[in-house]
Order: sequence, then structure tokens, then C-alpha cells
Amino acid sequence: MSQDLFLSKPWQQITTLATFVLLLWISGCSADAQSVDAQASLEARVTPWPHGAMVSAANPLAVDAGIKMLELGGNAVDAAIATHLVLGLVEPQSSGLGGGAFFLHFDRAQNQTTFLDGRESAPASATPDLFMTEDGVMGYLDAWQSGKAVGTPGTVALYYAAHQRAGRLPWATLFQPALKLASDGFIVSPRLANYLPMMAKRSRLAVNVGSAAYFYPNGEALKAGARLKNPEYAATLTAIAEGGPDAFYTGDIAEAIVAGAARAPNPGSLSLDDLKNYQVKERPVICGPYRVFKICTTAPPSSGAAQIMVMGLYDRLNPDNANLETRLQSFVDAQRLAYADRDHFFGDPDEINIPLDTLLSPGYLKARALDRFEPSEKPTHGDLTAYDASISGVQWAPDTTDEMAGTTHLSIIDFEGNAVAMTATVEGPFGTQRWAKGFLLNNEMTDFAKEVPADGRRLANAVAPNRRPRSSMSPTMVFEADGELRLVTGSPGGNSIPAYVAKSLLGILDWGLTPQEAVNYPNIIARGETVRVEIGRALGSEVASTLEAFGYPVKRREGENSGLHVIEVTPAGLIGAADPRREGVVRVIAAP
Ligand code: GLU
Repeated sequence: MSQDLFLSKPWQQITTLATFVLLLWISGCSADAQSVDAQASLEARVTPWPHGAMVSAANPLAVDAGIKMLELGGNAVDAAIATHLVLGLVEPQSSGLGGGAFFLHFDRAQNQTTFLDGRESAPASATPDLFMTEDGVMGYLDAWQSGKAVGTPGTVALYYAAHQRAGRLPWATLFQPALKLASDGFIVSPRLANYLPMMAKRSRLAVNVGSAAYFYPNGEALKAGARLKNPEYAATLTAIAEGGPDAFYTGDIAEAIVAGAARAPNPGSLSLDDLKNYQVKERPVICGPYRVFKICTTAPPSSGAAQIMVMGLYDRLNPDNANLETRLQSFVDAQRLAYADRDHFFGDPDEINIPLDTLLSPGYLKARALDRFEPSEKPTHGDLTAYDASISGVQWAPDTTDEMAGTTHLSIIDFEGNAVAMTATVEGPFGTQRWAKGFLLNNEMTDFAKEVPADGRRLANAVAPNRRPRSSMSPTMVFEADGELRLVTGSPGGNSIPAYVAKSLLGILDWGLTPQEAVNYPNIIARGETVRVEIGRALGSEVASTLEAFGYPVKRREGENSGLHVIEVTPAGLIGAADPRREGVVRVIAAP
């Protein structure tokens, strides 16, 4: 297949159409996965906690790896790293060593919650016009697959930082399940296989050095059920297991990453120094009250705080939870308001002033809940000047960030009640499609606003050297009034993540649903001037009609791309759920 196929003029120009087609196709993929997923064990319970532990993640092999670590005496941190190392192998379209992640950890004995930010960072040489060309902003497909889109991967440094802080098993042990699967081979899942024919048509996956040979051996897309080995991944894992993160951020592996980013078309300028200088950042855990509960989540550049906003606004809109109409209307309005603020104010907190305290303050949330927008109107961000004089001069240009779906979430609670909520990504499906030593390189730089405003106004989420792009990923935990953990949740889904995760919170805390019922509940995404409703699930059409009756312009969607993995702690024990829209499962293990 000729490379020119992907560079021809039509593809460069029809970016909006391409994005639309791609989104349709992505939702189709998730719908396809449903029939397969129906056979998986989605819900699990263990009674009573603390005599059990639980792992919920997007692939059974990955869940097994986490369970194995717990069996060996490891804790939630060990299990999370081992689980994710397998996800990077068996679900490479979603996340891996070439990407980044957010890691929220609850240490029950210390009663301490920690957020480690392993987000990809922009190369030191990056400038705001990274994606600008002579003809304007680079086309969507070109930018997605460009070398310019590759940010410095943070995942390996994140593993190490988390393990140094709170891991229990030896570092090298965490790599064993993934190493064995990569060496002996694993069975290609339907979801991975389903992507490949379409990727060959729409992307460069089937022509890029390394990825072509791996995903399309002899020019044929891998089929579901095939046994696949990844000796390069095994070698990379061995190097990191033996040499720690230095083996990844310097030497052969770092050189392969830099070479992958430097390849045509649209080469990037990621350097060996960028890799050597990468740092995981410990950031504040943001907590906010919701009724008797405390919701704790990740600070920007994540969108965790949007969870607290959605919940705070929902509460102040006074829905009757027993009444479908009012609770749906409040959920939609709370999302619309919170998204408008998130889109406008959030970015890299090391680089811009994010008025988070104001956005989360009871006074602002109360006033914001009263902001009225017609159902068909696109809500604008709130006016914070009355609350915080220091931000009166800040007026960002309207946000233009575009996000795609290629991410995963895992939730774990160990025998001692410690927990991890980890959301990990390579950004779009298969990242840039570029390959290095057994894994794919992320396209996280396209999570920045790519277009430089012609009027010279600044954007909160503009590209800048070493900056981290805003993320929608929102790993979240809920605590009871007495401080005990109640819920661990999170999801992939690009810009829809805040909506997906908020649904899991409200479903369980307010709507009387079990975790599995909340996960299965139709997704409702209210960002901008339309409301997307997932009609392919029970109650979906009723939800859509109810919202239409209120006047919201509803987009009815067959499938959605959430991947919620949730664990609830109840007096009766742990109850876990996996999202039927993906291939995940929940497994429990009884205490030894
Ligand atoms: N790259 C996106 C982010 O960090 C996530 C994409 C996805 O969830 O699929 O927000």
C-alpha cells in the first residue's frame, strides 16, 4: 500500500468530515464490542470486605496480572502497575509505555490520597504554532499521526514513582505477567482485531515502520483469536525491569522513541534531552463535598475537578432523584455549565492560573447553577470576576481543543483497603500509529488547542515548551463522612470522560443503582449545544425523548465509548463493575 494514499489532498483537507467519520466509526467499534462483551464476567462481589480484594480493568489478561500480584502479597500499587503493563500489550490501541497516565492512590493506613501526574509533556522545542502550516492549522488526520504529536511519554516514570512511594513487591516482579504474555503470546481480542481493517483504510498504522509488521503480518490484519507474540515488548520490559526507568529514558529505547517521532511525514522534534528530563509531578488531590460524601480526584491538567463541579451544580439544581425528568434535566444542565468552565479555564497548572478555588467554591457553584442558557444555546463560561479580583484580567480565547478516544481506566482495591484509580492513554486509537521497541508512541500533543487564534488572543490550552496538555481523564474516589473509602471510578472517552464518570457517581450515590447498573445506564454527554444520548442501551430512547421534550437538541447514538471500571465498598463487601462497551472484567480474590 502506498504511503501517498494517506497524504493525498482530500485527506489533508477534509478534516472536519474525517473527524466526524472517525467518531462514527469509533462509536461503531464500541457497539461491535457489546455482543462479545456480553459473555464476560462484568459484575463481581466479595463478602465481606476487608477479606477480599478486587481488580476491574479493560481486559481479562490484565485483570489476571493484577490479581496475581495480590496473590503474591502485593498491594494495590503493585497490582495497578502489573495490570497496566499487560494492558499496554493486549490493548495497545488505548494506552502503553509510549503514553501517559494519571494515578490516584489511597493509602488506608495513612489515610492519605496521592495524585501522581505522568502526563506526556511537550518537547522543550515546542512552540504555540506546532500544528500551524502555511495553509492554516494542520488537518486532523495529519496532526494525529504526525511526529509533532508525540509528547515525552510519562508512563514508565509514573510506574517507578508510584512503586518507590508505595509498592511492596520487588520492581522486577511487576513485569513478569506482561513479560510472559509478550514472550509466549496472547490471544488477540475482538476489539483490537476489529480496529485493524478500518485503521488500514483511515490511518498509517498499516504502513508505519514496526506497526505495519506487528499488526499486519504479511500485509494481513491480525484476526481475533490469533496468538500474537511481541518479542520487542518483552525485550523492553526486561530492560526496564532490570535497569529501572533509566533504561527507558536513556539509551536504545529513548533513541527509538526519538527516531519514531522524527520520521516523515510531519516529523517532530522530541529529543533525547526531553526524555532524560521527564519528571513525574505529584499534584494536589482535589476534594469537594457532595451531600455527606467527599469526592476526591485529580487536579489539572486532569479534568477531575469537573467531577466536583458537575456534582456540586447537580445538587444546587435541586433535582428530585426519584423523578426521571428532573434528575435528567439537572444532570444535563450541570454538565453543560461545568464543561463550559472546564473548556475555558483548564490547562497546565504550572503554566497558567486556573481559578480552581473559585470554580469549586460554594458561592460560585450556587451562582453558576442559576446561569440560564436555552437548551439549544451553547453555554459560555461563568463570570468569576465577582469572586476573584485577581482573575479579572484573564480572558482566554475560546477553546478549540479536539480530543479522540484511545484510553483505558483501571480500578483496584487491595486486602488492606488501599486503592488505585489509574487512567492511562496514548490519546487517539493507537496513538500516532508510530512504533518504537514493541509499543506505540502517543499523539498527546494534539490534546492541546492546535490552532493559533488569528486575533493574537492567548489560549489556556496552547502548546508551549515542556507544557502538559489539558486532559479529560478524571480518576476519582469517593469517601464516606467517616473517611472510609466508598467508591473508585474512572473512564476513558476523551471529552466525554467527565460525563461518563459523573454518571457513575450519581448513579451509585443518588439514583439507587448498583455499580453495574450505573455503568450500563445510557451515557448522556451534554457539552456545547447538543446532548448525546446512548440509545443502544436499555432506557436510552426514553432518556432521549425526555430530554427532547425539554427542548435539548439530542443526538441519538447507538453506542458510546466509555470504559468505566468501578468498585464500590459497601457494608456487605466489595461490588465491582466493568463496562460492557469494552472487553473488561472484574475479578475478586478472597483473603489468604
Ligand atoms: N487523551 C485524552 C485525554 O487525556 C483521552 C482520550 C480518551 O479518553 O480516549 O484527556
